[in-house]
Amino acid sequence: MEKKMKPESLMMSYGYKPALSEGAIKCPIFQTSTFVFHTAEEGKAFFEVAYGLREKAEGEELGLIYSRINNPDLEILENRLTLWDEAEDCAVFESGMAAITTVLLEFSKPGDTILISSPLYGGSDHFIRKVLPKFHINVLTYTVGQSLQEVIRLVEDSGLADSIALVYIETPANPTNDLIDIAESKTIARHFSNDKKTVYLAVDNTYMGPLWQHPLKHGADLVLYSATKYIGGHSDLIAGACLGSKSLLQRVKGLRTFLGNMASPNTGWLLLRSLETLKVRMDMQARNANKIAEFLNHHPLVEKVYFLGNLSPADGRAYEIRNRQCMANGAMISFDIRGSEVEAFTFLNSLKLIKLAVSLGSTESLAEHPATMTHVDVDPELKAQLGITERMIRLSVGVEYYEDIIWDLKQAFEAIKNL
Ligand SMILES: *Cc1c(COP(=O)(O)O)cnc(C)c1O
Repeated sequence: MEKKMKPESLMMSYGYKPALSEGAIKCPIFQTSTFVFHTAEEGKAFFEVAYGLREKAEGEELGLIYSRINNPDLEILENRLTLWDEAEDCAVFESGMAAITTVLLEFSKPGDTILISSPLYGGSDHFIRKVLPKFHINVLTYTVGQSLQEVIRLVEDSGLADSIALVYIETPANPTNDLIDIAESKTIARHFSNDKKTVYLAVDNTYMGPLWQHPLKHGADLVLYSATKYIGGHSDLIAGACLGSKSLLQRVKGLRTFLGNMASPNTGWLLLRSLETLKVRMDMQARNANKIAEFLNHHPLVEKVYFLGNLSPADGRAYEIRNRQCMANGAMISFDIRGSEVEAFTFLNSLKLIKLAVSLGSTESLAEHPATMTHVDVDPELKAQLGITERMIRLSVGVEYYEDIIWDLKQAFEAIKNL
């Protein structure tokens, strides 16, 4: 009998057959645009499957045709990524935005409405609010803390209830770590589904995945990643991924073939390397984050810390969602520094080990100023409502020794005292 192994045990070998690559222990980079067919009959059979002209026969695999359609590096990567979320299938893209925009385009059409949670990642928000309206696709927004009944009423009052095509959410929200209930979002999607259409739920899981939160288990139909973040984990590539059922992924991969926004073989190969250490990296980052939050919680120059590990029964619903949905507290911490932009900038300019940069989830710790950087585009009123002020600093905790990170934070706080 086969033992069912954990994903981390399979990341070095799953889906790769050394015998097909001269015995190489690692999957080579298949830097090739096209693949040679043995016979014309074989080429015909591969194309029939690729273009959906017939169903795959029992045990038949899609043969290699052309690297915009399939490539061994990407196929092995996709198979390995399915293990973490226990998804049926996966598609990798040349960026997180490529994965997100492909899903949005595949699951909506002119006249439809997309229901989103707010705040979303800036790029997603821009595409949904500024680009999709050009194709006559509407948007409705709900925010953290709104009840199921409130969201349903909001949609019904808008007059757009019949046109809802997709619910698209992101949790925890960036940079405040506010939580959206995935199961409840699925209830909303179901509420607006009927005999003629299914409203799907898509979740951007970049902030917690693929280790610390598994949206498919809570009812999501599609999970999206910027693989640039934890999955890549070394700040040396841009990539994205989408996971879900075979039938939905067939649609996603179909559009990907024609947009041509799949990842390159080289990026796929780099991600295969990254996946081997995903578990140890993320475990260490989460452990470090707990220690760093503890330090910030007690620092006199810190006014407020936004961290999942700080939630307590007093936080009511948020605490309950965290316990049900998240398997760790993540490695993203935001905090309000005492003072204003001057104090925040002095702090950021004084860091020595932690790098002043946007992005997240990488081996090195990063710090940034959401109000003037990642969230500069957010409507001022919404910014105020969300608590994204000039005092806020966002940290992505890396794998360095935690006492060194804390030393760096401590000396940057000291610099403020000298202002
Ligand atoms: C970075 C990010 C994206 C966009 O991904 P890219 O790889 O930069 O295209 C989308 N969503 C979230 C939550 C992100 O952090």
